[in-house]
Amino acid sequence: MIGLGIDIGGTNTKIVAVNAAGKLVTQERFRTEAEKGAPDFVRRLSAVVRNLRAKYGKRLVSIGIGAAGDVDPENGKIRFSPNLAWRNVKLTAPLERLTGLPCVMENDANMAAWGAFELELGRKKISAIALTLGTGIGTGIILNGELFHGATGSAGEAGHLKIERDGRPCNCGGRGCLESYCGSYAIMARARELISDEKEFMRKFCSPGHLKFNTICLTDAAAAGNKQARQVWAEMGDALGRGLAGMILLLNPDYVILTGGVSKAKKWFMPAMNAVLGRQQIETPFSEVKIKVSDDPDLGSHGAALFGLERARKRA
Ligand SMILES: [Zn+2]
Repeated sequence: MIGLGIDIGGTNTKIVAVNAAGKLVTQERFRTEAEKGAPDFVRRLSAVVRNLRAKYGKRLVSIGIGAAGDVDPENGKIRFSPNLAWRNVKLTAPLERLTGLPCVMENDANMAAWGAFELELGRKKISAIALTLGTGIGTGIILNGELFHGATGSAGEAGHLKIERDGRPCNCGGRGCLESYCGSYAIMARARELISDEKEFMRKFCSPGHLKFNTICLTDAAAAGNKQARQVWAEMGDALGRGLAGMILLLNPDYVILTGGVSKAKKWFMPAMNAVLGRQQIETPFSEVKIKVSDDPDLGSHGAALFGLERARKRA
């Protein structure tokens, strides 16, 4: 049995094939190019899926999709994705017509949470919050071994928890959101305030051939002892700790999983984050919660494939 997992991100779309044991069999990726419009994307995605269908034949039994944005899992529709700039895009129906296979779609952070649940937490009957730290902050919630959707499938929009009154502007149009302190765009905006000479900074700290003022360069700078870089990460960790403290108080999870590109800077933001978590008055949820950082860059697509397989199994 093989399940396909599709992770639709702002830049790239990843497709993986996963066997029943959860092992990755193959993976492909293409540029999402959301600006060409949803119908064009569906055409290109369908071509890749058709090839994989031909390759695996009857062994292929399910498709799971994770997409950035507000997803309607009941109807397999992206309601609105700020990153992709799409509204009301139905994705599962055309893929089901094309392949005859059951297809499910969820928010990408939900699929990363499911991936963490199956691959890192051993599918036990636990509760966990998975935060995907990237351009924005995605949150997926596992409650007692089940993915938690909420009333409309929008549970876990914790990137837009307001942690400051009249705070920094967020990509959502609001202010003071967790994401507006901890998303990579916000981290680099803060870095620009503290670092006067960007070019000199990049020359000094970026690896040769990758002269980009981004969180990777900022992480390397912190490792090299740069004070401003360390301050940016400490401020980000403090903000993340405040957001996370609210989530832990609300759900009392067994685990918090951090994933996504920005989690690679864990060494530089986690001390400040842990300091906030250690200062809470209701102590037990904080002393008991286990915080893990996942290094798996394919948690989203891998999780989508496993979730599709799980649903297909339940239907059978
Ligand atoms: Zn926001």
